[in-house]
Amino acid sequence: MRNDLLSRVKRIVIKVGSGVIFGQDGLDLEVIGALSRDICTLLSRGYEVVLVSSGAVATGKGDLGIVGRPPTIPLKQAAAAIGQSRLMRAWKDAFRPCGRCVAQILLTRDDLANRRRFLNARNTLMTLLEYGVVPVINENDTVVVEEIRFGDNDNLSALITSLAEADLLVILSDVDGLYDSNPKTNPAAKRFSVVERITEEIEKMAGGAGSVVGTGGMSTKIEAAKRATLYGIGTIIVDGRQAGVLPRVVEGEELGTLFLPVRQHMTARKHWISFTKTSRGKLLVDKGARRAVMEKGKSLLPSGIFAIEGKFDRGDAVRICDVDGIEFAKGIASYSKQELDRIMGRNSSEIEAILGYKYGDEVVHRDNLVVKK
Ligand code: GLU
Repeated sequence: MRNDLLSRVKRIVIKVGSGVIFGQDGLDLEVIGALSRDICTLLSRGYEVVLVSSGAVATGKGDLGIVGRPPTIPLKQAAAAIGQSRLMRAWKDAFRPCGRCVAQILLTRDDLANRRRFLNARNTLMTLLEYGVVPVINENDTVVVEEIRFGDNDNLSALITSLAEADLLVILSDVDGLYDSNPKTNPAAKRFSVVERITEEIEKMAGGAGSVVGTGGMSTKIEAAKRATLYGIGTIIVDGRQAGVLPRVVEGEELGTLFLPVRQHMTARKHWISFTKTSRGKLLVDKGARRAVMEKGKSLLPSGIFAIEGKFDRGDAVRICDVDGIEFAKGIASYSKQELDRIMGRNSSEIEAILGYKYGDEVVHRDNLVVKK
């Protein structure tokens, strides 16, 4: 299973956590050096690599006299502003001996939620890969506000897999994959070598909180794995401090935990609607509409909508909820909130008479709609 999956891999997104590259005395240049050599080995074997590196906040916070996590967002942003250039410098120096160039890409959720900017970012990424440059991606911490934050680089890296059209996501962590209980407190904890499907039980096992330096714990890693596997990409969570970890992983050695891709995965566009685009509103629909969407694979029509929340334009993403307000799908609205206020509950054949124009019969077309699994 592992070897079969790995034999088809060419482009890899590698996420490196702060817990891996940041030690007691700051950035751990030895680890960064070892990982860079590993990546160069992969590149020389014909793989393409996109690196997602955390560590900006951890690297910069000492200069502000902060011990532990920065207590406020402005302090975190200031720490990132100090640390990001140092982080890039460390990667740049580490890749120099093998003659590779690195390039910094800083992103916010907004950059990827806007389809045009998403495609632009993709073009940049593809050009860098074509020229053999190693893109080093991080969240643009210094400018983000809560609504446009990825929040943690685990989730960012999962979205990058679709941006980069990658075949594999490797999350380098300070734990060697998913265990049935906490390996730091329970020596008898058992590691899962392969996870076929990320069930609720698996999600529960991942528990909460992470390390002091990074943002995510195991739970954000599982979330990321879920997102990537839904896109049809295998994900490996592995201890990033083991010697030669990356070549060993791609050669099929049983390190860490491999999460298998979902067989009937989403298209890139549906994945983007589902995970990258932020919802701006809510449509509450009756039972008939819910059934049509969920069981019959139909589009959402105005007749089934009985309430609307939020403020959104045509082209924005909205949550589609049942009579109890529980979300069961998400999609792109073909009409704005103002337009929908006038046509909800009405038959599609009445739209033109009410508005004086019509974009189509559907409020959310099936092609722009993703049902929650
Ligand atoms: N963007 C943050 C940094 O570079 C890391 C976020 C995370 O730990 O996931 O410090």
